[in-house]
Amino acid sequence: MQITFLGTSCMMPTKDRNPSAVFLQFKSDGILFDCGEGTQRQMKIAGIPLSKVTKICVSHWHGDHILGLPGLLLTIASLELSRSVEIYGPIGSKHAFQALFGGIEFEMKFNIKITEVHEGRFFEDEDFALESLPMKHPVPCVAFAFIEKDRRRIKVDYVKKLGIPDGPLLGKLQHGEDVEFKGKKVLADDSTALIKGRKIVFMTDTLVNENCYKIAANADILIIDSTYSSKLKDKAVEHGHLTALEAAQIASKSGVKKLVLTHFSARYKNTLELEEDARTAFDNVVSAYDFMRITP
Ligand SMILES: [Zn+2]
Ligand SMILES: [Zn+2]
Repeated sequence: MQITFLGTSCMMPTKDRNPSAVFLQFKSDGILFDCGEGTQRQMKIAGIPLSKVTKICVSHWHGDHILGLPGLLLTIASLELSRSVEIYGPIGSKHAFQALFGGIEFEMKFNIKITEVHEGRFFEDEDFALESLPMKHPVPCVAFAFIEKDRRRIKVDYVKKLGIPDGPLLGKLQHGEDVEFKGKKVLADDSTALIKGRKIVFMTDTLVNENCYKIAANADILIIDSTYSSKLKDKAVEHGHLTALEAAQIASKSGVKKLVLTHFSARYKNTLELEEDARTAFDNVVSAYDFMRITP
């Protein structure tokens, strides 16, 4: 699993920062969280082929989170992939998508599937699930959680000792089923080690609300709106954003392991003030920058 920050600015691009976008690579899936203006170029610079994008999770339809969609999707269409790209966004996303693309000559050479999400689990396969919860912002907005499923790893020494050969029995144990071998019961709990799945949460833009704590609960990484420091709390409230301190308080109360601040106001030439503000409530915090990579 690898997370690449493609845009970390609020509102508009700056010399150093592009608007909101984060790419999460996991197995054969490439999940893009938001797609601010210029995201496809950011991906090229980061060395991420556009063909890797399988899902796009749109937090809300403010320009700094979606203006990269037309360009990105036009390019993906030209790749003539044989699969569809799934887009997930808050209520109203189908209409917003049609309105945005209505004026563009766009020959759809691939399928785009748009699903409006609100509350709870909206995608699940063998390896991971995606969930959303509504946030508090002037327009419909959701936060997303990527939840990797727990898995079991075979204790090689243990099964070797018992003489269990490679094959379906090991497969069953790995799926948590007890098996019988040479007349003896072999327990999955004894012969495998449980590896806890990781949870990554993407939360922007919002005011503090109950759902912040719910969706961030026990996240390994919380990527969060940190537009202003506490000194500009009034501005944050006025525009529906979190301060760095509020972001840290959410992390602290939710049992988050690592906090990543992002979506910075262009007024901050560097992020020291924001990090210091956050550190008064939560220690393990970093500020995202464009092209920063994290391997959870
Ligand atoms: Zn924004
Ligand atoms: Zn917004």
